Amino acid sequence: MAVKRVGVLTSGGDASGMNAAVRAIVRTGLDRGLEVWGIYEGYRGLIEGGDRIRPLSWNSVGGIIHRGGTIIGSARSEPFRTMEGRLKAARNLVAAGIDSLIVIGGDGSLTGAEVFRREWPEHLAALSREHPVAADAAPPGSPLTVVGLVGSIDNDFIGTDMTIGADTALHRITEAIDAICSTASSHRRTFIVEVMGRHCGYLALMAAIATGGDAVLIPECPPTSDDWSQQLVADIKAGREAGRRDAVVVLAEGATDHHGETITSARLLSLLEKGLGEAVRVTVLGHVQRGGSPSAFDRNLGTRMGQAAIDTLLGGHADNESQVVGIRIPLTECVAQTRDINQMLAARQFDRVLELRGRSFNDSVETLNTLLRALPHPVQEHQRRMRVGVMHAGAPAPGMNTAVRAAVRLTLDQGHRVFGIRRGFAGFATAEIREMNWMSVNGWAGMGGAELGTSRDVPAGSDLYAIARAIETHGLEALLVVGGWEAYESVNRLFDERRNFPAFTIPIVCLPATIDNNVPGTELSIGADTALNSIVCAVDKIKQSAVAERRCFVVEVMGKRCGYLALMGGLATGAERVYLHEEGVTLQTLETDLRMLVNGFKQGKRLGLMIRNEDANTIYDTTFMCKLFEEEGGHLFDVRPSILGHLQQGGDPSPFDRIQATRLARLSVEFLIDEVGRSGHAAAFIGSIEGKVEFHSFEDYTRMIDAPNRRPKNQWWLELRSVNDALAQPAPRGVA
Ligand code: ATP
Repeated sequence: MAVKRVGVLTSGGDASGMNAAVRAIVRTGLDRGLEVWGIYEGYRGLIEGGDRIRPLSWNSVGGIIHRGGTIIGSARSEPFRTMEGRLKAARNLVAAGIDSLIVIGGDGSLTGAEVFRREWPEHLAALSREHPVAADAAPPGSPLTVVGLVGSIDNDFIGTDMTIGADTALHRITEAIDAICSTASSHRRTFIVEVMGRHCGYLALMAAIATGGDAVLIPECPPTSDDWSQQLVADIKAGREAGRRDAVVVLAEGATDHHGETITSARLLSLLEKGLGEAVRVTVLGHVQRGGSPSAFDRNLGTRMGQAAIDTLLGGHADNESQVVGIRIPLTECVAQTRDINQMLAARQFDRVLELRGRSFNDSVETLNTLLRALPHPVQEHQRRMRVGVMHAGAPAPGMNTAVRAAVRLTLDQGHRVFGIRRGFAGFATAEIREMNWMSVNGWAGMGGAELGTSRDVPAGSDLYAIARAIETHGLEALLVVGGWEAYESVNRLFDERRNFPAFTIPIVCLPATIDNNVPGTELSIGADTALNSIVCAVDKIKQSAVAERRCFVVEVMGKRCGYLALMGGLATGAERVYLHEEGVTLQTLETDLRMLVNGFKQGKRLGLMIRNEDANTIYDTTFMCKLFEEEGGHLFDVRPSILGHLQQGGDPSPFDRIQATRLARLSVEFLIDEVGRSGHAAAFIGSIEGKVEFHSFEDYTRMIDAPNRRPKNQWWLELRSVNDALAQPAPRGVA
């Protein structure tokens, strides 16, 4: 069917990132020759009709990408659950000439959309009986095309890895718990923090991992016995004795005990106060979790999904069945499975619930159960105790401490010994090595920087000999290197030198941690998400600073010769132009961009935003670009550079970086222990590709990198360049 007029609505609870999706839908739709109409206030607006359904223009979705909530409003509508209500909705859609619908919402909203699509022929038949003449607009038999986007903070939709809004909610929760931890620690207090998520424990579980929480209660894993609260009290006391100053129990709003009775924060409070014999504090985070500016991830997820929604509509995939962007199985199946979970929870079939939640959820439960222990499991008698070295290399990246904390505790918990190597390979050569224990990494989960220290040295010459000696002296049997480009180069050097230095023939894993996101074998490295959020936050402020003037900013971001931060930063902030080393900068492109700026400012535009990678072009650098634009822009606008610098490398890691660092550290440790156990000596780098964790051998390293440019040959994110180009320009000619 040829789609002409698309209606877009947001429904159910609002979620940050919905605006990015609406913006992408409107602009991509207009760019492809469609009309896009906003249906304000969700299904309620669809039933009310009138001016609740009206066209959206290119400029009407300008300046909204950084705003939380949804500019077209959201609502829950009881009448839409009835046939009568949906008939009214159909009448309004036909009257507005809308032939396809994009719905952004949770499982309820998408179920409603599917019900509506299936009934559509009945509604048309009823309408044609009402008004035979008016039925010409949509004769019986014309289909309604429906595409859905999952927007919900709960991340409870089976079939998707992430729903729009869940990452931002995790940001809010993590910020709050970090703040609570500092006060809890000052007063040696116990806190209960209740988080949202309805029947899904995702937010609580991930928040506990990200913040180093001491306990978590989620619907999927209720306590298994009646004395659970005594056990919890005992764990908190044991943590205190081991030296922890604070205790934070993360409680999911849907958590129950093993009889199915809800564990409310009030109930937990009274149990803990009685058990601990002291005052306990409760913080119910509530709607704070829904609000605020969307994270970089949610902006980009919303944008990509919005564009994909239009592609799905135009590709004809949604003609016979509602399609949901970004899920792997049909909508009806996803909704059915999502609903099944709630019934299984009620029937207390927790094993089946966990199976449906998926691998990474289960892994996280298991990892957390180890990390939150007061002390490791005791060492088994006669067990072989391996000696594992842990270190950083390359520039510091937020999340390095999180990775080391997880690696240290998960290794110790299996009875092995861990040795921290300080100051990267420089410190390795001078044997700055110290044994670590459970409490050496206390409080590191959310700490920025790199407590072990790091350096950019890539060992050569006599350092190689010194490192080999240090390995032998300390009897290191395996090595985990958490770092960026120099970490990979260094391990590759050790790998190459194994013939000359047999000490290097031990299992080694490189865990990607660099804000530049320029190492092979992974889509994302630890630290890149934090840096991206710092960029987005800074650029939002820069944009606001310019509202009173007519000004163009040239913002320079890090990344060396890898344009990841520039492109993704541009996508998340709506920058008009992004300059990457991968594409180079020519005088011709600068001229074209200058013309675009001049035309834009002539037509009343007030702000220009260009983002460039620091090494995009060494001759046409930031200063040159600013001078060129300033001179040629004349009195129309002025130009300011903004070099973001080291703020991008600092800060506490984002929730995603903490969760990913923990996950990769766990799998790296398992890999190393397994290798030592079977006398292997693989040298590998770990990474995550399309949601799956993979190891690559260092034998493939050279083949996978573009060495002169210090980046991987395959950079998946470059394909998003066209998304940025399509959305951030002024309206194309002829488009309102
Ligand atoms: P959230 O995850 O934020 O709660 P949601 O989309 O699941 O979002 P719901 O309240 O379940 O939120 O649904 C939103 C609206 O979708 C409802 O108010 C109703 O109008 C419509 N809806 C939900 N389920 C159905 C259904 N089975 N049939 C028709 N409409 C429905």
